[in-house]
Amino acid sequence: MNKKKLTYKELQERLTQAEEAIEALRSGKVDLILGENCPLVIKARTLEQEAQKLNAAIEQTSDWVVITNKDGTIEYVNKAVEIISEYRREELIGKNPRIFKSGKHDREFYKNLWETICSGNVFNAILINRKKTGDLFELHYTITPLKNKDGQIHHFIATAKDITEQKLLKEQMEYSAKYDTLTGLYNRKYFTEEINHLADNAQKQGIKFAVVLVDIDKFTALNDTFGFETGDEILKRAGKRIFNSICTDCKVSRFEADKYGVLLSDTGNPEDIILVLEKIRSNFNRSFKIGTEDIFLTLCMGISIFPENGNSAEALIKNAEIALSKARSIRLNNYQFFEEEINIKTSEFVHMQRHLFHALKKNEFTMHYQPYFDCQTRELKGVEALIRWNNPKFGLVTPGMFIPFLEETGMILEVGKWIIRTVCKQIREWINKGYDKQMVPVYINLSLAQFMQKDLTDFIERTISETNIKSEYLGFEITESFFMHDIEHTQKILGNLRQKGISVNIDDFGTGYSSLSSLWKLPFNNLKIDSSFIKELTTNPDNTAIVITIISLAHNLNLKTIAEGVENEIQWQTLRILKCDMVQGYYFSRPLPADEVERFFESKIILFT
Ligand code: C2E
Ligand code: MG
Ligand code: MG
Repeated sequence: MNKKKLTYKELQERLTQAEEAIEALRSGKVDLILGENCPLVIKARTLEQEAQKLNAAIEQTSDWVVITNKDGTIEYVNKAVEIISEYRREELIGKNPRIFKSGKHDREFYKNLWETICSGNVFNAILINRKKTGDLFELHYTITPLKNKDGQIHHFIATAKDITEQKLLKEQMEYSAKYDTLTGLYNRKYFTEEINHLADNAQKQGIKFAVVLVDIDKFTALNDTFGFETGDEILKRAGKRIFNSICTDCKVSRFEADKYGVLLSDTGNPEDIILVLEKIRSNFNRSFKIGTEDIFLTLCMGISIFPENGNSAEALIKNAEIALSKARSIRLNNYQFFEEEINIKTSEFVHMQRHLFHALKKNEFTMHYQPYFDCQTRELKGVEALIRWNNPKFGLVTPGMFIPFLEETGMILEVGKWIIRTVCKQIREWINKGYDKQMVPVYINLSLAQFMQKDLTDFIERTISETNIKSEYLGFEITESFFMHDIEHTQKILGNLRQKGISVNIDDFGTGYSSLSSLWKLPFNNLKIDSSFIKELTTNPDNTAIVITIISLAHNLNLKTIAEGVENEIQWQTLRILKCDMVQGYYFSRPLPADEVERFFESKIILFT
C-alpha cells in the first residue's frame, strides 16, 4: 500500500475522530464506527469484542456482581447472584439491594456503608445476607462507586465472594483438629495436648492427676457379629457413658478404635480413682439396646498417675498402655494401675466385698442427707437419704461401690429395711429436737428387689407407726427401669403410697426408656432430671433442648421437676430461667451427716446469692 504521509493537522483530526468514535462506542450510542480509515474500524471492532468478553466474564464469574444506579436501584445482576441468592434475575432488577437484608447488621453498619460509597470511596466488609429461601449466607463484599470524567457517581458496582462454605470448612477443620468426628469426644491429639498442659500446671501447684485408658472387651467380635454400623453406634454410646461417669472438669477422648482416654484432672489418689472406675463400670451394667438386641459390654482399664508414673503425656500414656495390657492379660472386665504396689492395695479394696457381709451386723452403714431447694426462692423442699459404708479399713465408701454387690447377693433386702427404719427413726429424732414445723419429706432410694417385695408397703406402714411420724415426712425415689419392669405392680404400690400421703419421685429421668403412657398412668410427685443432662446444660445445646423438653413434659403431666447434680451458678441460673422447680447438687450442699443437715431446717433458705 502506498502510504501517504499525514500532515500534523490531519493526524490531529484523525485522532479526534478516533476518540469520538471510541466514546460513541463506549456510551453504546453506536455499535460500530466505519471511518474512512481502516485502523479506526479495526480499533472499533476490537473494542466491541473486548466489551463482549468483559460481559461474558462478568456473567460467568462465580463471584457476585450487582450494579445499581446511584439511587441504589438494581440494574444488573450476574448469574452468580441468581445462584447464591436463589432469586431469579427478573425478581431483582428494579429492586433495592435491601431485598437481601438479613437483619444481622445494625443501622450504624448501613449508615457507614452509604456514607463511604456516596463520598466516592470503596466499601469493604463481610456482609451477612438472606436468600429468597430465608437461609443466611456470608459474603466478602466490595462496593465501588463508578464515576464519570467529572468525578460524578453514576453507578455502584458490588462485587463479592460467597464465604459461607469457606467458613464452614474452617469451622469443620477447627472441629476436627480437636474432636473425634464419630463420638464428638476429644481426639487423641487434643487429649495429649491437654495432658501436657495439665502436667505443666500441676507441676507448679504440686497436684496429682491420673490418666486412664479404657478399652472395650472383645469389640472386634462385636463388630464382626453386628456389623460396623452397630459398632459405631456402640462406640458413640459407650463414649457418652464414660463421659457421664466423670467430673465436670475431667476430659474424655476417643483415643483410637475402641479405646478411650480419660483425664482425671482432680485426683491422683488411688481410692478416688477407683470410685470413678467403678462408676464407669456400673454405667456399663445396663445393656446397650440396639434394635431388639441387648448388648452387654465389659471394659479393661489401665491407669497411670502424675507425677509418679511420668511427667509428660507421652510417658503417662505409655505407662497407662502397659497397665492396660496387664489388665487384659489377667481377665476381661478388670483394671490395673501401672504401679504394682497400688494394684496390691486395690485388690484388697476390690476384695472389700467380703467385708460387706458383716457391715450391717457391725453397724458400719450410715445415712447421709442431701437437701434440695426451690429453684426460685431457695427454700428447703426436701432431703434425700443416701447410704454410706463406714469401714475402718476403707473409710467412707459411697454406694456405687457396694450397692451392686448388695443387689447381686440379695443383701439389699435386709439393708433396705435397715435404711427405711433408720430414716424413720431419724425423722422422729428431728421432730423430738423441735424441727417438726420445718420438716420436709425425706426421700429414700429404693432398689428394684425391694420394690418388688410383696410386704414393702406393710413394712413402711409399720415402721411409720412404730416411729410415730407423719407419713407425709417420708418419700421414695425409684428409677424408670422399675415401672418398665412391671407397670401394674408399680401402679399398685404407688397408689398405696399415695393414699398414705407418701410422695414418690422418678429418679435419674432420661436415662431409661419409660413410655409416655406409663408416666401418665403413674401417680408420681416429682421427676428428677438426671445429672448427665445438667452437667452439659450450658455447654451443649442438645442437652439444653432435652432439659427444656423434660421440664415441659413433666409440667404437662402435673409433676414438679428436680435437677440433680447442679454444680455451679450458671447451671442454677439457667435452670431458673427454664422454670425448673427444684435443684439439688454440690453447689448447694453435698450429702451430709444427719446433724449437719439440721442447719438447713434452722434457716430454710440457703444463705448465698
Ligand atoms: P441417686 O439417687 O441419683 O443419688 C444422687 C447421687 O448424686 C448421690 O451419689 C449424690 O451424692 C450425687 N450427687 C449429688 N449432687 C451432686 C453433684 O452436684 N455432683 C455430682 N457429681 N454428684 C452429685 P451417691 O450418694 O454416691 O449415690 C449414688 C447412687 O447410689 C444413688 O443415685 C442411688 O441410686 C444409689 N443409692 C444411694 N443411697 C442409696 C440407698 O440408700 N438405697 C439404694 N437402694 N440406693 C442408694
Ligand atoms: Mg436418688
Ligand atoms: Mg438420681
